[in-house]
Amino acid sequence: DEMKKQDLSVLLDSVVFLMNAQSKKHNVELNWAAPQDEYPVLGDESQIKQVFVNLIKNAIEASEEHGTVEIHLSNRDDQVVIQVQDYGCGIPEEMLNHIGDSFFTTKEKGTGLGLMITQKIIHNHHGKINIHSIVNEGTTFSVILPKYY
Ligand code: ADP
Ligand code: MG
Repeated sequence: DEMKKQDLSVLLDSVVFLMNAQSKKHNVELNWAAPQDEYPVLGDESQIKQVFVNLIKNAIEASEEHGTVEIHLSNRDDQVVIQVQDYGCGIPEEMLNHIGDSFFTTKEKGTGLGLMITQKIIHNHHGKINIHSIVNEGTTFSVILPKYY
């Protein structure tokens, strides 16, 4: 648990590599092209990786077979933005408020801990999370972190 300069492009590379086995099992394609730019943030490597493991895992689980999960990274002024987008079941509006509550899950074998931990980590890194979701169309989780100079 150590705050250091991290390049999000490098971290995402290894998380996507890590998640490839699970996506293959679900027949879901992870769409990620490591960009050439640098995306520096101050953070704890394993905690930040945990955030993207959680978001990508949820996106895979929400997707239909042969679906695609897109992972996109961009620099926006003094922030780094990471988007994890799926074309899966979506989240009903009345449920959005409960996303991230401890133990809130709609899955038979879910724990409802992934997004609680995710939000806590992002908060500790002075970032924020936005959710854009349309039922039966899909969901985009955007993580916004301050850029580290
Ligand atoms: P778990 O995955 O164990 O259920 P999470 O905290 O990771 O716990 O997620 C909580 C709930 O949020 C899920 O059960 C699901 O209902 C909803 N959810 C999270 N991510 C997505 C997504 N990408 N698409 C649809 N629903 C989602
Ligand atoms: Mg989860």
